[in-house]
Order: sequence, then structure tokens, then C-alpha cells
Amino acid sequence: MNAIPKTLKAHDEVETAIAGYIDEFIALRRDFHQYPELAFQERRTSKIIASKLSSWGYEVATGIAGTGIVATLTRGEGQKRIGIRADMDALPIEETTGLSYESNNPGVMHACGHDGHATILLAAARYLAEQGKFSGTVRLIFQPAEEIGAGARKMIAEGLFDRFPVDAVFGLHNWPGVAEGQFGFVAGPAMASVDQAVIRIVGKGGHGAEPHRTVDPVLATASFITALQSVVSRNVDPQEMAVVTVGSIHAGTASNVIPDSVELKLTMRSFSDSVRQQLQQRIPALARAQAESFGASADVDYRLGFPALINHAHETGLARQVALDALGSDVVESGFRPRTASEDFAFMLQAQPGSYLFVGNGDSAPLHNPQYDFNDAIIAPAARYWVRLAEAFLQ
Ligand SMILES: [Zn+2]
Ligand SMILES: [Zn+2]
Repeated sequence: MNAIPKTLKAHDEVETAIAGYIDEFIALRRDFHQYPELAFQERRTSKIIASKLSSWGYEVATGIAGTGIVATLTRGEGQKRIGIRADMDALPIEETTGLSYESNNPGVMHACGHDGHATILLAAARYLAEQGKFSGTVRLIFQPAEEIGAGARKMIAEGLFDRFPVDAVFGLHNWPGVAEGQFGFVAGPAMASVDQAVIRIVGKGGHGAEPHRTVDPVLATASFITALQSVVSRNVDPQEMAVVTVGSIHAGTASNVIPDSVELKLTMRSFSDSVRQQLQQRIPALARAQAESFGASADVDYRLGFPALINHAHETGLARQVALDALGSDVVESGFRPRTASEDFAFMLQAQPGSYLFVGNGDSAPLHNPQYDFNDAIIAPAARYWVRLAEAFLQ
């Protein structure tokens, strides 16, 4: 179970120390995997994390946003404070990996690797407490409910950064399809915003043989979906990114009945607030105008999810430089591209400067897939990276 990729730079004391107890953390990751907990229900996970952090000498605050934790460690005279965040929640997915440590909780699965993210931060926490060379304050943030987009927001609303101020905050996500242990950094927009709309096009149903006595919502919907393509192609600046997807459409029950209404569900993604606002304005307007042109009407329920995750340039530069210096240029991907998935760390980066980075999970099943598993081989290099980042930030 050697978890350290061969491509790392010369051995250092952090690597050696973490290698000495990595098996314990791999076992812990598998334990978290076996007992996954859904958003805001991470009670067992949170309890284990808090007790480990206390045993290493952290001052541990629990119960923030329910199961959230902030662990603080201060050393020396330094005034700077770094925040590092990991998420803890699992997903409502039935696992099909067949692993020996497969989920014991039916219908719940760590299919996004948050079991790994929490473990990485704990492995770093132990090293920082026992041997970390820094002067200042380390704050480790364990967040609930990333998957429903509520945990980061709730921790912030409950005074996260007022009670536990930081000068910058960092987080990471494992990424399937990126080589094991490779690090990716993106300055500026790194992950997309995600919003949803539920649209009901309402007409007047009737006999399929007598369309002239009806207002056909199916035809109005067909026209709307076609017109919808013009939002990305004609309204959004061609140099900007936007995705508009109709993922669900439901109407009618029989071939000879014109239904009263059609229901559509849409997802929208973008990398900037201005494009996001443009979508929020154009899509409902288009739905109403298109429906009206057929004598139908449209009810639009537009639900805002996460904003785009915008990495701050200075902190991203620092984060990248630490990876180059501590781990070597061969593990830092050049030209890593932004991802169109979403992440509620975006809220933390709206509140504080910081950066969110990516670590390759190797050739695994994709995130949110019932076959996915977090790659234990990245615990050691990622934990070593958090240690080096904290030490560099708090020199
Ligand atoms: Zn996820
Ligand atoms: Zn995730």
C-alpha cells in the first residue's frame, strides 16, 4: 500500500513522516467510505474528525452549520492565518463497486471522494501538529453538505470567517481522468455556476383530432426549445462560456389527446456573473414570449444554485508555486482547464481570497458514478502539499 507516486521531487521530511503513518489514514478513508452520511447528517464522520484533531492538540470548534468543524492551531509570533477546507458529505447513490469497504449504508455512497478530501486534511493536520514548521495560525475547516450547495453558505452565515478569521482559504477536489497525483491550478473562473429552471408551458387540452379547439402546449414547447438555442448562440458574448440544457420534458399520456401543459427542467452553467444574469433574464423572457405567440402561457421557476468558482490570482499563483517547489514541476499540469461542474467552495471564495485546486484521481470511474472510488494513492502527496502550503503561507 505504498501511496506515493514515483514522480515526486526529492524526498523530504514531510514525505517521510506521512509515509510512516499513511496506512492508518488509508484505513480511516476506507472507514469513512464504509459509513457514508448525507448532507447535514455527517454526525459519525464529524465526531471522528473532531476527536482526532483534539487528540493532536487543535482547539476544535464543533456544531457550525450542524456538523461543521473548525480546528485551530497557533504557533510562534506570526500574525497570518491560513484556512484549508475539506468537505465530508456523501451522495444518495447505491454503490456498485463491490469493494471490501463498500458502503454499509444502503442508497448512500461516497461517490465524490469527500471521504478522501477529509482524510487528506487529517493526514496534513497530524503532521502540522507534530512537526509543522510555521509561525501563525492554521485553521482547518471541515464542511458539511457540499453536494446540496448549502454547507459552505451555512457555515459562513453562522459566522465562520468572523469567529475564525483567515487571510486566505484553500480547498481541493480529486479529479477522475487526470493522472494520479497530478496537480491542476486555474486562476480566475475554475468551475461553473449552476442554476435550474422548471418551466411549465400551459395551453388548453382537448381531442387530438380537433387541434383548432385547443391551445397546443407541445407545439409551443417545441418552438421554445428551438428558440432557446439562440440564447447561447446569439445573446451570450462568443468569447464567454454558457451551457443551457433541457434535461427533462414531460407532457401527455396518449397519442390522441392534446395535453393541458408541458413541464421542462433546465440546467444552466456559466463562468461569470454577467452571463449568469443574462441567462436568468433571457430564458424566462423567451419562454413567456414563445408561449404567448401560440396563445399559451409559461410559468417559470428559476432557482439559483452555486455561483461560478472564481480563484483569486495571487493566492492561485502562490498555491501553484508551492506545488512546483515542494513536489516538482512534473506533477503540476500546465494549462489545466476550468471545469463545467460546480462546487460550493465558490461561496467561500466570494467571502475570502483563496484558491481551489485539483488533484488527479487517475483512471477511475467518474464522480457521482456508482462505480467510483477515491484513489488512496493521492492521500500522501495531497497531504504533503497542504503541509507545504501552510508552511509557505505562514513562513
Ligand atoms: Zn459531488
Ligand atoms: Zn465533490
